[in-house]
Parts: sequence; structure tokens; C-alpha cells
Amino acid sequence: MNYKEALEGPVFQIVARASGELSLESYVIGGFVRDLLLGRRIPKDIDIVSVGSGISLAKKVASLSPGQPEVTVFRNFGTAMLKIGEAEVEFVGARKESYNRDSRNPVVEDGTLEDDQNRRDFTINALALSLNDHNFGDLLDPFGGLEDLDKKILRTPLDPGVTYSDDPLRMLRAIRFATQLGFSIESNSLSAITENKSRIKIVSKERIVDELNKILMSDTPSTGFALLHKTGLLPLILPELVALQGIEEVEGQRHKDNFWHTLEVVDNIAAKTDDLWLRWAALLHDIGKAPTKRYDKKLGWTFHTHEFVGAKMVYKLFKRLRLPLNEKMKFVQKMVLMSSRPIVLSEDFVTDSAVRRLIFDAGEHVEDLMTLCEADITTKNPRKKKRYLNNFKKVRDKIEEVEERDHIRNFQPPVSGEEIMETFGLSPSKEVGLIKDAIKEAILDGEIPNEYTAARDFMMKKARELGIES
Ligand code: ATP
Ligand code: MG
Repeated sequence: MNYKEALEGPVFQIVARASGELSLESYVIGGFVRDLLLGRRIPKDIDIVSVGSGISLAKKVASLSPGQPEVTVFRNFGTAMLKIGEAEVEFVGARKESYNRDSRNPVVEDGTLEDDQNRRDFTINALALSLNDHNFGDLLDPFGGLEDLDKKILRTPLDPGVTYSDDPLRMLRAIRFATQLGFSIESNSLSAITENKSRIKIVSKERIVDELNKILMSDTPSTGFALLHKTGLLPLILPELVALQGIEEVEGQRHKDNFWHTLEVVDNIAAKTDDLWLRWAALLHDIGKAPTKRYDKKLGWTFHTHEFVGAKMVYKLFKRLRLPLNEKMKFVQKMVLMSSRPIVLSEDFVTDSAVRRLIFDAGEHVEDLMTLCEADITTKNPRKKKRYLNNFKKVRDKIEEVEERDHIRNFQPPVSGEEIMETFGLSPSKEVGLIKDAIKEAILDGEIPNEYTAARDFMMKKARELGIES
């Protein structure tokens, strides 16, 4: 089959010319070809393999490209990268690989195109299109990758046991591609992943997180987490989630399976937001439920303080996986910590002051919190679902109404600490804090409006109560 038309872009013309001038063969390979044939959005990164030095080819390409872009050379890997317009083009010389038991970095030697296709992880990632004059645009598909694309199957070119053991990152890539593309993993591959799961220990945390993030960013992340679960990889990566699995029954009382519930919540939220961290929050929102689960004769199953415990677990989990310990983590913690607040609100008559407190505590993230809570509704009873959504709608309306009036979201105390100190001739002290706090509480309770004059009057009154003279 020939795909000449798809290669009309300037990048391929330049690479073809450069290859001709250096008299070496070159091919576009991997993700670009796969996504092209799938009719997916054409990726910005293009992988070129050449029979001969990839670095020399990259330099030649740069010299023939408009503006002579800079070439970044990765000597250790024998690869080079350059940008042509929007495209990030990566060059590698065709190679043969052999692996050591304790590292996923292979020993490499020069090889043919076939050698290079052999080292690729999946048949659908080994597809190559020729950039050579004599057969420009021809598809080189030694392992039936086209057929696998058609059947939506992930299969390794070589023995799956060897492929996954050599580089165990491929186990996660298989699950990630299955999730992103909606493909199934061929059964020998699936068993090989299960058998080799403990090899995941030689993969760096950063690479594991990259794949988890890609799974989370797909349309139905549950597919990936279910596969991680099925292959036994999940306990090695996210044991906190596995601990949520199962239903216990005491005196005829059962609780829901919080693992499968969580996966539904993640799919729900994926339909509403592309914010990676909100998706992480959905994944982790119930992790505190495993260590806090109790059975009480009167109350039935309880998960008392699970939000608080869960937020603490987020820190440990982020640290272990080398996820960022910055404001992203704090955001996830905040979502976990507050994940039950709107529910409690919606069950009661929704008072203004409760809503003001919610806005005050959630701050700029109050919308995200509502999105999480709505995604958390997984009841299969349509009447209940409607009622819950309706309650949240009421909370949302109330948030809008209260926010418009009281501007609590970015709350700044209308009377500053400096002003309190100046008025009463105080130095920084407990009294200043008491007065400041009392003003804030009065505003949140709705006792006074969020305005300067009212706050100033209230300050005078509070100071008198405390026996402080101006
Ligand atoms: P995407 O860019 O969407 O993640 P991709 O297939 O382009 O998908 P890359 O990580 O960009 O993935 O890798 C480019 C190509 O390199 C792949 O298509 C595959 O042929 C090969 N490859 C990447 N990682 C591995 C690996 N761990 N083992 C074997 N081949 C790999
Ligand atoms: Mg790619």
C-alpha cells in the first residue's frame, strides 16, 4: 500500500532530499504512521529512522530546512531532534537492541530497518512509510500491524514474555494505548504482562507517572485502571486504590465497592473536565475510606474522617510517585478534604451562611469542587440521581447568588490587621488576631455585610467587649 499523499508536507520532502544527498535510506515510523492510518489527529512529533547515522541525517535536514533550525543531539542515545515549523522531528539510526536483566536501557548496535522494527513495542507502532525515491510512501509492515489496527489489537512483534521483561515500561504503554485507542490487548500479551508485573520495579517513577497521566487524560480512564487491576500491576503502583476494592457485609448491611465506584467517578469527571489534577482528585477522593472503615451497630458502615485521612494520604502518595509536591498537590488535597462538604449542604436546607463558608474554604476552586461532587453521583437509581443532581443545582445557584452579593471567593478582610493595631495602639498580638477573626466570622455568618463601614463598626464593638480602648 502507498501513502504518498499523506507525505506531501515539507518535513518529509526535506528528509527525503537529505537522505538522497547522504545516500541513506530513511523512513517515518511509529506513532505518526499509526495515528495517520487510524485517522486520529496527526501528532506533532514525527519519528524518523534511517539506515545509517540518524545524527548526520538530522544535521543534513537542518541545513536544508528554512531558517536552519538548531539540532539537539542526544549522544548517549544516538538520537537527534529538531523543530521544523510546528513539527518536532526525532532522528534515530536503525538499531538492534539487547537487554540486561537490571536495566531497561538496552545495549545497541547498528542494524537494518527490520532489526529496528523488531525492537518496537507493538505491531501498530512498528509501521513505517518509506521516504526513499524508489518506493516513496510505501508501507512497510512486517508484522501485520495494519491488520491489528483494523482489529483494534495490541500485539508485540516478538515474544511478549521477552518484550515485556526486557523493558517493563511496555506493560504500561500497552495499557495506556488500550485506553487511549479503545483497543484490546491480545491474550498472550495480557498473560505476559501479568507474569512480568513485578518487573515494573526497574521502571522510574517519572515514567510510570507519565503513563498514569496519559491514562487519566483519556476519554474513559477506567479502562486503564481496570487493566492495571486485572494484570496485578495496580497493587505495585497504587495500593491505596486496591484497598478500596471489595464489599463487606455485617448483619445484612453492605457498603458499596469503593474501587469500582471510584473508577466510575473518574469516567464521569473525564466527561466534564480536561484538568489533569481534578482528574487525580477524582481518582483519590475516597482513598481515606479503606483505613477509616468501621461497622457500627447503630450507624451501619461509617468512614468517619476519611476526607481528612485521605488528604494526608495524598501527600504520601504524591511523594512516593514523585508527583509534584507543590500547589497541584495542595489542590488535590483540598478537593479530597472538601469532597463531602457540598453533599452535606445539599441534604439540608441550604443556608446562606453555610454557602458563604463553603465559598470561603474552597476559594477559587469552588467550581471544581462542585464538578467533583456531581461526578461522585454513581447511583443506578434514576430517581435518586435526578434528586442529587437537583440538590447540587440548588447549591450552585446559591453559590452564584451569595457570591454576587458578598464576594467571598477571594476574601480579603475589609479591615486589615494594620488598621486594627493603629486604631487601638496595639503591637502584633493575640488581641489583633481575635478581632480580625471575629470580623471574618461575623461576615461568614451573615451578621454583617462584607463591607468596610460595617466591619469598622463591628471592630469597635468587639474591642469594647474585649476591654480594649481606642
Ligand atoms: P505517543 O507519542 O502518542 O505517546 P508514540 O507511539 O509516538 O505514541 P513515543 O513514546 O513517541 O510513542 O515513541 C515513538 C515510537 O518509538 C513508538 O511508536 C514505538 O515504535 C517506539 N517506542 C517508544 N517507546 C518504546 C518502548 N519502550 N519499547 C519499544 N518501542 C518503543
Ligand atoms: Mg510520539
